[in-house]
Amino acid sequence: MPTILITGANRGIGLEFAHQYAQAGWNVHATCRNPDAAEELNALPGVTVHSLDVRNRKAISALAQELDIPLDVVLANAGVMGGDIERQNFGNLDYATWEEVMAVNLYGAVHTAEAFTPHLERGELKKLAVISSQMGSITDTSAGFTMYRTSKVALNMAMTAAAPGLRQKGIAVGIFHPGWVKTDMGGPTAKLTVDQSVRGLREQIEKIEPTDQPEFLNYAGDVLPW
Ligand code: NAP
Repeated sequence: MPTILITGANRGIGLEFAHQYAQAGWNVHATCRNPDAAEELNALPGVTVHSLDVRNRKAISALAQELDIPLDVVLANAGVMGGDIERQNFGNLDYATWEEVMAVNLYGAVHTAEAFTPHLERGELKKLAVISSQMGSITDTSAGFTMYRTSKVALNMAMTAAAPGLRQKGIAVGIFHPGWVKTDMGGPTAKLTVDQSVRGLREQIEKIEPTDQPEFLNYAGDVLPW
């Protein structure tokens, strides 16, 4: 059975990924900041839980060294919105929080991808997926959410820039918008359940192939404008 690594897997979309892949019989390596408090994640059969704060790049590298196994899929899911949305508006920007958002959504996701690329090279399926957001689309952008939007648009560019080199290693890059999903981040009025979003995303992850120019896809497989 294939093996997957998922970051930010203690709640929301990440937890549902861990649940669905484990249910499908995959070997799941799930990371979270506080494994002792991750009751739902710890209760999933077939899931190995690792402690990881993706702001800590040394810790990402250390986990990559410790987890000396082939991986089929690496899924950089951990993300933050950036707190007080009033402080995300131009003219009132909170730069300290912005740095935090970048540390998680951009550097954390990209360093996870970098650190685990050797594991993907040794795996069979060779798929590297990042959970971005439609809010990182310049075409679709309306006002506000500066921190969150800039972190996701930069993530899109970083992974697009990495794609040609990864293609040469046989690795496919997937850049995904999960839809608007009922989680702590998405809120209760969101359109999709985690089950719907993750079922769709798993189908899309299965389909991606190595390419110099990955597309920006949503959970249903629609191509989104950058
Ligand atoms: P969520 O319910 O707020 O969960 C976020 C996850 O990220 C949690 O597991 C959280 O762990 C983890 N995380 C935050 N900071 C971290 C750090 N420094 N190190 C490691 N893990 C960290 O959000 P979600 O809706 O599931 O979001 C998952 C992904 O989907 C994110 O990348 C988000 O931007 C993206 N997304 C979501 C929506 C939506 O509508 N929900 C829409 C577009 C994109 P803790 O419990 O330790 O905080």
